Amino acid sequence: MKYIGAHVSASGGVENAPVNAHAIGATAFALFTKNQRQWIAPPLTRQSIDLFKSRCVEFGYKSSMILPHDSYLINLGSPDSDSLQKSRDTFIDEMKRCEQLGLDRLNFHPGSHLGKISEEESMKLIAESINIALQETSSVIAVIENTSGQGSNLGFKFEHLKYIIDLVHDKARVGICIDTCHAFTAGYDLQSKEGFSKTFSDFERIVGFKYLKGMHLNDTKKGLGSRVDRHESLGDGMLGINTFRWIMSDTRFDNIPLILETPDESKWEKEITFLKSII
Ligand SMILES: [Zn+2]
Ligand SMILES: [Zn+2]
Repeated sequence: MKYIGAHVSASGGVENAPVNAHAIGATAFALFTKNQRQWIAPPLTRQSIDLFKSRCVEFGYKSSMILPHDSYLINLGSPDSDSLQKSRDTFIDEMKRCEQLGLDRLNFHPGSHLGKISEEESMKLIAESINIALQETSSVIAVIENTSGQGSNLGFKFEHLKYIIDLVHDKARVGICIDTCHAFTAGYDLQSKEGFSKTFSDFERIVGFKYLKGMHLNDTKKGLGSRVDRHESLGDGMLGINTFRWIMSDTRFDNIPLILETPDESKWEKEITFLKSII
C-alpha cells in the first residue's frame, strides 16, 4: 500500500492534524507535535492526546502512516555544549510526545558542525544524542532525514547516514527518511531514470531499505548538486513529474508515510489525487 499525504497544520492542537489531513484526501500525514520555532512547549493535555488518537482511528490513520517532524531549532551534532544539551533535552521531550500520541517514529535533521568541529566529530555527537534519546524513551524510532548539505548541515551523503546508524546501539529504533528535493540538490540524480535507479541501488548498498521509514516528496527550485534547499510543487521544479511516477510504481516505497512538503498548500489535494492516480 502507498500512504500519501502532506505536512499538515496542527495549529490549535495536535488533534487538528488528522482532521486537516483527512480534508485533503490524505492517507498519511506529517505534523509538528509542538511549535517548531520554540524550545519549550507546554505538555500535551490529556484531552488533546485522546482526541488525536480517536480521530486517527476515525479517519483510519495508523502510526505507520504518520511521520512527525521535530523542531527546526534542534542541532544534535552541535559543537557548543550548551546548545547540544538544549537540543538533546528538547529532542527527548519530542520523542516522549510522540509516544504519548501513540506514534512510532520521529523525523529529524541530523545536525550541523557549524564549521567548528569535523564532520566525524559532529556525527559522533549526533549518534550519541540518538543513543541518549533512545535510552530515555521506550519505543519511538529516531528517523534521520537526508539533507541538501546547505551550510554545514550533515546527512547529505548516504555515507553520513550509514556512519550515524553504525554508532546507534539499538538498530531497531533508528531509521531514515529520504527527501527527494534534498537528495537531488545534494547531488543524487533523481531526474533521469538511470540516475533514479542508481541512487536507490546506492541507498540499498550503503544504508539499506530496511531502514527507510518515510519519504518527503518535493520537487526542487534548485539544481542537481546545488546544496540549496528550496522545495517546489510536484512537476513545477527541476525534478519533474517522472520522479514521482517512479516512486509510486516501486514497491520499495510501500507501507511508509510519503509526505508532501511542497510550498503551495492549496495544491496538496490535487497533488495527492495525482499521486494516487499513478500508483
Ligand atoms: Zn525535514
Ligand atoms: Zn523534508
